[in-house]
Amino acid sequence: MHYVSTRGGAGVRDFAGVVLTGLAEDGGLFVPQSWPQLSERDLIELRGHGYGDVAMRVMQPFVGDALDQPTLARLIEEAYATFEHPAVTPLRQIDSETWLLELFHGPTLAFKDCALQLLGRLMSHFLERDKQRLTIIGATSGDTGSAAIEACRDRDGLEIFILHPKGRISDVQRRQMTTVTSGNVHNIAIEGTFDDCQALVKDLFGDAEFRNEAKLGAVNSINWARVLAQAVYYVVAALALGAPARQIAFSVPTGNFGDVYAGYCASRMGLPISQLIVATNNNDILARFFGSGAYQPDRVVATMSPSMDIQIASNFERLLFEMVDRSGEAVTGAMQSLKQSGSFSVDPEHMDRVGQLFSAKRIGEAETLDTIRDVATRAGIVIDPHTAVGIAAGRLTRKSKATPLVCLATAHPAKFPDAIDKALGSPPPSPPKIASLFEREERYDVVANDPAAVKNYVREYL
Ligand SMILES: *Cc1c(COP(=O)(O)O)cnc(C)c1O
Repeated sequence: MHYVSTRGGAGVRDFAGVVLTGLAEDGGLFVPQSWPQLSERDLIELRGHGYGDVAMRVMQPFVGDALDQPTLARLIEEAYATFEHPAVTPLRQIDSETWLLELFHGPTLAFKDCALQLLGRLMSHFLERDKQRLTIIGATSGDTGSAAIEACRDRDGLEIFILHPKGRISDVQRRQMTTVTSGNVHNIAIEGTFDDCQALVKDLFGDAEFRNEAKLGAVNSINWARVLAQAVYYVVAALALGAPARQIAFSVPTGNFGDVYAGYCASRMGLPISQLIVATNNNDILARFFGSGAYQPDRVVATMSPSMDIQIASNFERLLFEMVDRSGEAVTGAMQSLKQSGSFSVDPEHMDRVGQLFSAKRIGEAETLDTIRDVATRAGIVIDPHTAVGIAAGRLTRKSKATPLVCLATAHPAKFPDAIDKALGSPPPSPPKIASLFEREERYDVVANDPAAVKNYVREYL
């Protein structure tokens, strides 16, 4: 399988190339040259198989010759063995024809583990094969950092540095990162805000000399392997609920558009998805886009679902590419317009290419709390605020009550105790994984909000 850039100006790569590169050199995102198909017969044959078998069948055509089958099977097996539930991503019914797809049974209790546990292993494998090393640098406002650290810890060829704003993330979030004492993990508390951390990372990547010297890489959400790994659980859930004989609808709490775009990929492969509901919090750029065809970032506002407090949905460019009939020129034009005038528009004809499949809905803070309360009362299940946004949007937007609706549950409620306390009057009990964080030693260094200081810190370890 070959991959092309959404902006049409980069050379083609194989799977290993896109895993290690992340962003294409023309600023675009890599997408597969064609969509491998899962026929009705393929899907029927997959019924009753475990997560690993389905993952293998979904991913193999996209991996192509970049990995032999036993190696891919081993990496998949190892990645999902870190999950605590035997089904990896179990379904739980919350009312008639509505299910939760629990994606939070991995090491950091949020759905990013589903993709990152595999990505870390893939990267490490390709680096070892090529006798290369990569220095992963990232900034986190909380959740992504711990998932990236868990994905990279103790992996050959990888050194990881995660910047967090000192004193500005929760104790649980900090401890999930700083209690990892593997030799290749480096936590840096920056004397500044999350925006400062992001600016520092951008500065480091912008310094070509340092980038080459340190062999900088990223595990951010635009990496194709993350999207691909996420397409798997759509297939797993749909098969369990009767596909291919039945259509299935999904509601997806959305920030960077990575997770819901993975659903789109599954649909393009032939999975019978009737509806993909794009659920946003008050940061509603995507809900506004699907309503009007205009993509216009606004200011980011803080909500109780912070992992979706995003106004630049980086993976959206991949869907745009499909909407404009895979024209790299049209995508480049839209991105220039975004940069110059702060927005771009897609005309109705091109909106129709995906309009049948996608619906979108913004959910406010009060509705999020109401939904947490309602699901606790009626189903006896405590859900996290991101999941609540997805359920609320799903209930308001589903086209048919007879079609099963799967709402993606993206985080364990114990990661957001304040929101649960606000909704239900008490915080949820902590699972052992979180409780034990408070008994372990923390390790991190405080570094000034200054690019030179961060570079020096990184150099010390290389
Ligand atoms: C990252 C994240 C999301 C949003 O996922 P995207 O792929 O960015 O759309 C939703 N919920 C939780 C808990 C997350 O960590």
